[in-house]
Amino acid sequence: MEERNLSVQSYLKDSGYNITKQRLLVFNSLVGEEPLSMHQLIARIDSKIDRASIYRIIDLFEKLGIVQRLNIGWKYKIELTDKFAEHHHHLTCQNCGKVIPINEESLEGFIGRLAKQYSFTAQKHQIEIQGLCSDCAKN
Ligand SMILES: [Zn+2]
Ligand SMILES: [Zn+2]
Repeated sequence: MEERNLSVQSYLKDSGYNITKQRLLVFNSLVGEEPLSMHQLIARIDSKIDRASIYRIIDLFEKLGIVQRLNIGWKYKIELTDKFAEHHHHLTCQNCGKVIPINEESLEGFIGRLAKQYSFTAQKHQIEIQGLCSDCAKN
């Protein structure tokens, strides 16, 4: 936790931005969490920072590649990029909104081979799998 914190501090500094309490608070609210909607993020920060500032910080983080949007239908959630969290994908339940992180070596290997087959230099990918979680599928 501490280490991640340190690296975002130097990352901000190297990008020419000040390390502010507010920026660190927003960052820390995303560490080790499943992706959060802006609504959830704002709730988590619990009015320690005003809404407009949170949006501004997320915009900045997105521009700097600290966070990314995970598109879920027409909505989106925010999560840390691979720079600050382990690379993974999600299974998203369209009924209850549960997000299940998946981390499959075989999937990563397959994507690598696929890109190679098309002589393509893959730099990043997002995979979106939507459906029903086991609880919702039962009902
Ligand atoms: Zn569900
Ligand atoms: Zn992947």
